[in-house]
Amino acid sequence: SDAPEDMDPATWAKVKDHPCYSEEAHHYFARMHVAVAPACNIQCNYCNRKYDCANESRPGVVSERLTPEQAARKVIAVANEIPQLSVLGIAGPGDSAYDWKKTRETFRLVTEQLPDIKLCLSSNGLALPDHIDDLTEMNVDHVTLTINMIDPEIGTRIYPWIFYDHQRRAGLEASQILHERQMQSLDLLHERGILIKVNSVMIPGINDDHLLEVNKEVKRRGAFLHNIMPLISAPEHGTVFGLNGQRGPTAAELKALQDACGGGAKLMKHCRQCRADAVGLLGEDRGQEFTMDLVPEEVS
Ligand code: SF4
Ligand code: SF4
Repeated sequence: SDAPEDMDPATWAKVKDHPCYSEEAHHYFARMHVAVAPACNIQCNYCNRKYDCANESRPGVVSERLTPEQAARKVIAVANEIPQLSVLGIAGPGDSAYDWKKTRETFRLVTEQLPDIKLCLSSNGLALPDHIDDLTEMNVDHVTLTINMIDPEIGTRIYPWIFYDHQRRAGLEASQILHERQMQSLDLLHERGILIKVNSVMIPGINDDHLLEVNKEVKRRGAFLHNIMPLISAPEHGTVFGLNGQRGPTAAELKALQDACGGGAKLMKHCRQCRADAVGLLGEDRGQEFTMDLVPEEVS
């Protein structure tokens, strides 16, 4: 099919077979996530570390955590059953660029056997610049960055602390560093020709109006898609926002912001915020058929 008006042909060529982005492809190509990266280097006020990272996957679900070896076995077993498998993603449950050794080892083991599979990962961007050469070398197809602000003052209300350069940092300094590293991640990925999607969590009263500026900046720096997700803030999940009584956006508020950001929104309509161990065609999750106890010891 034809490229959307606001997308250049080179980007479209990469996107059109991707089950998450193309209307057509999502009927024919399958994706899977493996949950190999539990560690994280920042604290988001909307996060509960017991559950999957809201970087990419639906918050509030627990995924099956695997070692790289287990993950590789699972991917091969899935590829044998679901020949349409074309994308392997690592979306936490923590930060895949911070838990880099596990992410890299998983990709290495999988591509030894499935050299054509497209690789993607999601990250908050803080550790990502350190691995840009690895990402390029491994031919990572696309990266999802979660960027909730471009103004560190606003960041202080979202991120109480980060862990960076062997130290915990708090307050404005933390948000300043995070912001700089996120912008650096965008620039490096763009320079290396790796597709960039940006996710933002819409937090009413904190970054809702600001996300329009975020939208302009991330597009200017080369993101091909900006996906705005609602804050899901349930007190029983014990997140800081949940306990503070911070509400999520209404459906109408979310839609108004998504419409205002425009451009590419059509492509993102079917992102389901799949769980960190989702398996199958988009819109289905066959993860339960491929839990580790069901994956054979030897697969090839
Ligand atoms: Fe939680 Fe993800 Fe934020 Fe880390 S980046 S604190 S895992 S939501
Ligand atoms: Fe695709 Fe969205 Fe699912 Fe990631 S979360 S695999 S981008 S549909």
